[in-house]
Amino acid sequence: MLELIEVTKVYVQGRRTVPAVQGVSLTVRPGEFVTIMGPSGSGKSTLMHLMGALDTPTRGRALFHGQDLQAMSDRQRSLLRRERIGFVFQAFNLLPTLTAAENVALPLLLAGRNRRQALQRAGECLEQVGLSHRADHFPDELSGGEMQRVAVARAIVADPEAVLCDEPTGNLDSQTSREILTLLSRLPEPARRAVVMVTHDPTAAAYGTRLVRLRDGRIESDHPVPKSSVPC
Ligand code: ADP
Ligand code: ADP
Repeated sequence: MLELIEVTKVYVQGRRTVPAVQGVSLTVRPGEFVTIMGPSGSGKSTLMHLMGALDTPTRGRALFHGQDLQAMSDRQRSLLRRERIGFVFQAFNLLPTLTAAENVALPLLLAGRNRRQALQRAGECLEQVGLSHRADHFPDELSGGEMQRVAVARAIVADPEAVLCDEPTGNLDSQTSREILTLLSRLPEPARRAVVMVTHDPTAAAYGTRLVRLRDGRIESDHPVPKSSVPC
């Protein structure tokens, strides 16, 4: 469903060009939970932005369900990000003036859904992440782990086919990280949804179904992760 074919991304910084990703081919299938690891500067975030239609390749093609992202208009890419791809970030990115339920409902409200329906769906998603009792709380009344649960609920509110996570446990202690990783590991759906996560956390890969290592903008290794490898 997410497919990169011989993708290269070159950034231009003044007179210098920085090859962030070089000739990468990667296919993510429904049901997978792909962990992407690699040293700082190895191209992880760039790869995620290319898969999430946040950026377009310099060379090669990025496809979503066979559709070339570069051939879409900005508006089509924006709709795709809003309705079919969910994002989770290290910094949670919640709006401080909205309650947890309103933060979760926001993507649906922006898409024009009515407030009652949007809040009802937000309630279902908060329940899914175990946070129904915090629905009316504001972000500054929540712990880091709770804020990230709200962000996960927001990422799935439109029932997207892909959930892309950029260092989702980067601001969390190890116990809370495990809880968030467990939550993320339940999101892939066999014939429908995949999760891709960029992380520095060496324990995180055990929660995924596949581990891709990047080095200098290239794929260094790409292996399935055995199911039983999550530490108790
Ligand atoms: P990672 O996520 O693995 O740390 P990135 O994808 O952020 O790696 O960066 C890969 C390379 O591309 C780095 O050398 C980085 O400095 C460069 N880079 C990333 N984004 C930009 C940008 N917007 N402009 C210029 N260079 C960038
Ligand atoms: P619009 O163009 O409709 O205002 P955007 O395209 O900016 O909306 O954003 C659509 C979705 O993509 C957002 O809900 C957000 O989750 C994600 N997004 C936007 N910008 C970024 C970014 N810089 N990094 C990661 N995700 C982003």
